[in-house]
Amino acid sequence: MRPGDDRESSVTSPSSSRDPNSWNSLPEPPSSAILELVADLSEEFSKREALMHALASEFAQKAVLTSSWLSRVDFGWGPERVKDVSKGIWNPSSYAATLTIVSDPNGEYDDGDHGDSLYRYSYERRPPGQDPRGGSNAKLREAMQLGLPVVMLRKVAGGKFVPVMPVYVVKEEPERRRFLLALDESLRFLPDPSHLTEDQRRYAERVVRQRMHQPEFRSRVLGAYELKCAVCDLRKAPLLDAAHITADTEDTGLPVVTNGLALCKIHHAAYDENILGISPDYIVHINRQVLTEIDGPMLKYGLQQMDQRPLWVPRRVVEKPDRDRLAARFDVFKQVG
Ligand SMILES: [Zn+2]
Repeated sequence: MRPGDDRESSVTSPSSSRDPNSWNSLPEPPSSAILELVADLSEEFSKREALMHALASEFAQKAVLTSSWLSRVDFGWGPERVKDVSKGIWNPSSYAATLTIVSDPNGEYDDGDHGDSLYRYSYERRPPGQDPRGGSNAKLREAMQLGLPVVMLRKVAGGKFVPVMPVYVVKEEPERRRFLLALDESLRFLPDPSHLTEDQRRYAERVVRQRMHQPEFRSRVLGAYELKCAVCDLRKAPLLDAAHITADTEDTGLPVVTNGLALCKIHHAAYDENILGISPDYIVHINRQVLTEIDGPMLKYGLQQMDQRPLWVPRRVVEKPDRDRLAARFDVFKQVG
């Protein structure tokens, strides 16, 4: 419950009382102030972990976090606001450091991927004449000094966010008025983030894709498809994926909604395995051999009865699946089945 300045002075004071002429060199037992700090930070880590669990659970259910939900999140200590109303950096007084930050890829700040493994996050602007490092930025610096995990909320639409977590503040560049963040615990301790080896670069790319780009793609696609499977209409968000039409391993496999389909786990796997195909006129097709097989209800109702069913697609033209991409994938399906 104490502000950062109190904590610093209480930590440094006990060492001054140590007697330099003491006959042995055993360290003094920890002072109550240090124990209190450790206990505070321990609780702070627990609260942040519980918060991230609550955010992940909500994101799995809804594929998005809304401003109104973020204004009242119950993660075990009573409902709390976890995002600032108007500013990007949320510094609740009961926390030692910043809890969440908002990043808007289309906003006024120069936030975004930095090199292969980091994310640059600009200082919050301060009124003219005031220290640019101060204000809300001070507690984000505190998160760096204490090694506390922070939640980044990436804005995907008005009042809608995707969580990237945990992120860590690993460096400050005051001359450029920004912090650098690691988007994963494993990227915190790279010896020289600006000069990665080829292996480190590939690993970092994969982590950044999994931690930031894939959740955003899932959020946009599932939102466009109103949280239901385009093949069978299943409305269980935790069982839904954002499938790529052109695979993301190909250069043209961009994470855009027109290259996506909301599919349940079964139909996603069936699409990837060419058991299920989708023609460019938005009709579902099932592999000919699979249509002749006899098995339990999943085969009969889950696959065979989907044959010739119209695909459910978003109403907005800019969100409908790209027919050229579907055609290319459908050619592969026809060759197989
Ligand atoms: Zn389905």
